[in-house]
Order: sequence, then C-alpha cells, then structure tokens
Amino acid sequence: MRKMFVDGEFVTSVSGETFSVENPATEEEIDEVPRAREEDAEQAVAAAVRAQDDWRFVPGIEKCELLHAIAFNIREHQHDLATLLTAEGGKPLIENMDEVEWVAACFDYYAEVGRHESGRVIPPVQRHQMNFVMKEPYGVVVCIVPWNYPLLLMAWKVAPAIMAGNAVIIKPSEHTPLSTLRLAEVAFRELPRGIVNVITGYGPEAGEPLVAHPNTHVIAFTGSVATGKRIARLAAERVKKVNLELGGNDPFIICDDIDLEVAVRGAVWAAYLNMGQVCTSGERFYVLDSVADKFIDRFVEFTGSLRLGNPMGPDVDLGPMISAAQRSKVERKLDQVREMGATVICGGKRPPNLERGYYFEPTVVTGVDHSMPLMREETFGPVAPIMKVKDIDEAISLANDSEYGLGANILTNNLEYALKAAERIKAGTFWINDPLTDNDAGPFGGMRMSGGGRELGAEGLEEFRETKHVHLDYKLETKSYWYPYDWSKGRKTD
Ligand code: NAD
Repeated sequence: MRKMFVDGEFVTSVSGETFSVENPATEEEIDEVPRAREEDAEQAVAAAVRAQDDWRFVPGIEKCELLHAIAFNIREHQHDLATLLTAEGGKPLIENMDEVEWVAACFDYYAEVGRHESGRVIPPVQRHQMNFVMKEPYGVVVCIVPWNYPLLLMAWKVAPAIMAGNAVIIKPSEHTPLSTLRLAEVAFRELPRGIVNVITGYGPEAGEPLVAHPNTHVIAFTGSVATGKRIARLAAERVKKVNLELGGNDPFIICDDIDLEVAVRGAVWAAYLNMGQVCTSGERFYVLDSVADKFIDRFVEFTGSLRLGNPMGPDVDLGPMISAAQRSKVERKLDQVREMGATVICGGKRPPNLERGYYFEPTVVTGVDHSMPLMREETFGPVAPIMKVKDIDEAISLANDSEYGLGANILTNNLEYALKAAERIKAGTFWINDPLTDNDAGPFGGMRMSGGGRELGAEGLEEFRETKHVHLDYKLETKSYWYPYDWSKGRKTD
C-alpha cells in the first residue's frame, strides 16, 4: 500500500481506509492508497498553513534552486514515473515519457520566471512619495487534478504556486494517484516540510473539505464542467479565488489548399491522442467541400492502420480508455447519434482481439449536424465526427456554435483563412498547422464554459499572486487636505 504525503511524511488516512487503483489495460488492481476524508484534509491544511508562514519569505533565488532540483530529480526518475503513469492511466509509455519531461521543464521554467520580478514601481502623484505594486502569495493553494495528464496538470499549478510563495495541497484523481505519490518521494522531499502535500481520495470526500476550508485561499482546478460548477459554488461561500480549467468540444477546420496526407496525419493525431481523452482533442471536424470526400476516405484508411494494444509498448499507438464508465459513455453517445441518422463509417466498437482492458476502436462518424449532442457536448473519447462545409465562413460560424471555448485548430496555408479564423473563433488557444501543442511561456486556458483562468506563461504565475499597492511618503508632514478644511479656496487640494 502507498501512503499520502502530509507535512513531509508519508502517512495513512486517519481512518485507515484505503481504495484500490486499477490498471485500465488489464482491469487488475495495481496498488492501494489511503482514502482521505475531512480529518485528513484538516491535517494537510494545518501543515500547509504552518509551512507557508516562513516559505513566503524564502528569497527567490533559493526557491529557484529548489525548483531546479525538483526538475533534476524528475528527469532522473523519468522512466519510473512514466511507467507508473502508463500503468494507472493507460496512455502509451512513449507519450508518458514526454509528459514527465514536460513536467520537469515546467518546474525549470517557473524557477526562472518566478524570480524575475515581484511587482513594479509606479510614478507617484506627489513629491517625496514612492508607490510600489507588490505581488504576494495568497497562502494555501488547493490543486485538484484530473486523470488524463496527472503529472503535467499538477505541475502547471504547483510550480507557479510555490514559486510565488504559496504552500499547496494536491488532490490527484482517484484513478491516477500513484504517479503523484511517487513524484512526492523522488522530488518534493527536496522542499521544506508542508510546502507540498498530497492527499488521495474521492472528490466529494477529500476534495470538497479542501475547497470549503477557511484556511485555503485559491482553488486551482482542472476537470469537468460539472465538477467545476460545484467547486465554484462551494468556493463562493468564502469568496475564494477559483481557477477553472474545464472541458471543451474543440473544432478543427481543414481547408482546401492543404497537402492531403499531412492534413490527415495531423487531424487523426488530434482526434485520437490518448484515446481522445485530451481536453483539447479535435472533437468536431469541418472540411471544405472540394476536398472533403478525399479527406474522409484517407482519414478512415489511416485510422484503420492505428495499432491498439498494451500501452507499455512497443509498437503501439493507442492504449485503453481510462475506465469502463468512460467507454460506456462513448458507446451511448454513438448509439444516440446513429438513431439520429449519422453513420459510423469506421470503428465504433470494442476490438474483438482485446478481451481485457477498456479498449475501443478509433471511430469516424459522418452525416452529423449541430442538432446532435455529439457535436455540442464533450465526448472525451476516440470519436471523430466529420462534417462537410461550403466555405471558411461556414466553418467559422459552426466552430463558434458551441458553449465551450477551450481550443480550436485550422490546417491551411491560406493566410486570409488562418487569420480570419484566429480572429473570430472564441477559444483560449488557436493552433494553425500544429495541433494541440503547448509552450511553457504561452498561456493556456478556456473561454466561455471551458473556464476562465490561465495556466503557463506569465499569466500562469499571476493566478497565484495577490496585488498590494504600497503608498509611501518619505517625509512625514501635515498635508493641506487634512483637517481643518480651508473653505476659502472652495476645494481641498490645489
Ligand atoms: P472530474 O471533474 O470528474 O474530476 C477532476 C478532479 O476533481 C478529480 O481529482 C476528482 O476527484 C475531483 N473532484 C470530483 N468531484 C469533486 C468535488 N465535488 N469537489 C472537489 N473535487 C472533486 O474530471 P475527470 O473525469 O477527472 O477529467 C476529465 C475532464 O477534465 C474533462 O472534462 C476534460 O475536458 C477536463 N480537462 C480539462 C483540461 C483543461 O486544461 N481545460 C485539461 C484536462 C482535462
């Protein structure tokens, strides 16, 4: 059994209860972890409050060195961490090796960005005055993370939050707590005790007490819209800052000037990466009419060549989905869309040769329109619905016909198409010819119901810093605008 990480120690839950973590590729139990509840959350908050009291004053250069040490240790354990990520999450090992490297790079990035400045000096309104805009930590940050990129989405919160002088409590997904606990062993032990704490458990039992606690100050959350709304409501009781990174239903436009083979490879990858369980997966494909038939034929052919199997590899492109429930959700969506008249032209079922594990064939659907939930709701599975459109304006209009606004993509060499779409489509990230990539220096987040905060970049640090204006007069003297008022001038100041 694994233990949680609270106040620099590995501990069981107060009740001694545990829950098991399953391998989605084999449906077998991998390990057990503590099932935290309110009393465990209470202990983690107390540890974080104690630790933050001093941590906020640790000089930036010292924090910087500690974050670089974390990054170094993560890289030293890259294979080990990636193997655990694969065992508990089902993503191919080759993708998880990348994820671990991106996690290390994120700690390196914020090590430097976070020591660069801590506010600014502004011109005063009077002589012998100085005005400082100081940036200071909020206090204790709760980081609630989903299962699809367990370490990466944790790092996007933890690295800037601690660099800004906060202490954090991480609540990983109940599906994928093992890699975070292992990371605590190999990397977070570098930090003074209590700066980073990890408690494992279910959302309502372990997450909600952290969200509602009077001594937590920011809730950094990535997950579904439904959970995001619940967290926002709870946090509102204490007017707490909430950073929400929620779901999406990203549009993907393919124009008529493209190299067909390149476009198909890019679009297929965007649709099925991590079995379509990426918040920015291409979930709706709009292809300009004149190339649509050829594009769909080649898309189906290439999709059929993808290799499903043991995510530990080798020679595998796709692993299983995360859980039986997530797979059933996709199956129900496909049943519904078939009944509404769409055609599943490829995939749409469990692969007959893989009896165990939550595998599902990558699926292509045509004959879809915007009356169908498949085109309006997040699917979060390996399904690519493709729609023909007459021109770029129709593509942009359909792309915007959504409650979400996380990411959007276009493949084209036509400058007018690319920039018109970039300017008009409501999305936090717009990719032209390079789908789904991140840049540590570039802000990531959503518009509309996909959320509001930003992670990464300078913006991602700002989310964890409060602003204080310090107004200073270095000459203590009586001001003309203090009492008693001189009414002869008709106003108080010159
Ligand atoms: P989820 O909302 O079910 O769970 C996310 C986390 O919240 C888990 O740790 C869970 O235990 C916790 N949680 C659940 N209920 C809670 C509660 N009442 N109080 C506190 N915590 C609670 O989401 P998921 O299924 O783990 O992840 C998939 C979702 O995440 C998708 O909708 C996807 O689009 C979204 N996502 C968004 C981004 C982004 O950056 N915008 C990135 C990845 C995933």
